[in-house]
Amino acid sequence: MTIRSILKGRIRRSISVSAVIVGAAALTAPALAAPAGDPPPVIDVHVHAGEFPGGGMTVCPNAAQFLASDPKGPEAPFGWSGEDCSPRLYPSAPGQYLSDVAAEMKRLNVTAVVFGKPDDVKKFMAAAPGRVIPGTGFNSVANGADPAQLKMLELAFTEGGFKVMGEIGLQYEGISPSDERAEPYFALAEKLDIPVAIHMGTGGSGRANVAMPKFRGSMGNPLLLEELLARHPKLRVWIMHAGYPMAENLLTLLQANSHVHVDIAGLVWSYPLKEVNAYIKRIVDGGFGDRIMFGTDQMMWPKLMAYSISIVQNADYLTPQQKRDILYNNAARFLRLPAAAQPAK
Ligand SMILES: [Zn+2]
Repeated sequence: MTIRSILKGRIRRSISVSAVIVGAAALTAPALAAPAGDPPPVIDVHVHAGEFPGGGMTVCPNAAQFLASDPKGPEAPFGWSGEDCSPRLYPSAPGQYLSDVAAEMKRLNVTAVVFGKPDDVKKFMAAAPGRVIPGTGFNSVANGADPAQLKMLELAFTEGGFKVMGEIGLQYEGISPSDERAEPYFALAEKLDIPVAIHMGTGGSGRANVAMPKFRGSMGNPLLLEELLARHPKLRVWIMHAGYPMAENLLTLLQANSHVHVDIAGLVWSYPLKEVNAYIKRIVDGGFGDRIMFGTDQMMWPKLMAYSISIVQNADYLTPQQKRDILYNNAARFLRLPAAAQPAK
């Protein structure tokens, strides 16, 4: 959710009973076996389903600067510099996004954890059969947990085939992941052994102060997870966007909590490339190369997957084994994909 809150405002979701059932196909393992000659499999743990206003925009990945602005305005909702770039990422033609991104997933041999409203996730699954691990989350907790939504989530995870709780956007509400108001949802996830994916760190595209008034950078501090993890020692948490840029706090948390993983979604393409590589290298050098999972934060640019994979593949500080771990093995292990779906290292 690097920029989606800017594009759409806080996502408000309501989940109906019928919407959480994704069908029997979702209960089976993703079809990861690749015919000979296909590229090695990749798991993208951070993809969003749904329509995104502003979907016609192009983007320059890894823009080199976030520009200052003056409160006298007018202020653009994005802070990225207007530099030209190659490659520039283009959105699909109207109505073509799902088929375009599904074709890319097939070409690149990608299986994705797809988050969103259940109906939107089901559409994604229909477009990319066998390549989607469905995820869904909860709405604002500003007024406490919603019993009806808790019940719907329980149904989604026990009967509906949903496998992951996320993307949890508490930081966009200025709320800590250890806040008591979110507690019932995380207790449910621990009880059902469902991994939870929490947005932490990245603050959008340089205009949180303009576009997201409740967002607090401080609520992305990875150490804020400590009380939650103490209350729920079996909970499988992954920190989306790797808590960027709070490397030292992230490493402190990873040292103390061996269940916690991170994804590099959004981070990998929306910050200066030298900085992205330095951050990932810091986590690997800290000894946590088996905690890093690949992700895109894909929402509207089909070629973002290939671009983001290339950042990992071109990282000269990673061994071939470390690249495979980040692109596939770590997520397969964390998500407990069936062994039959996991190729040998
Ligand atoms: Zn996010």
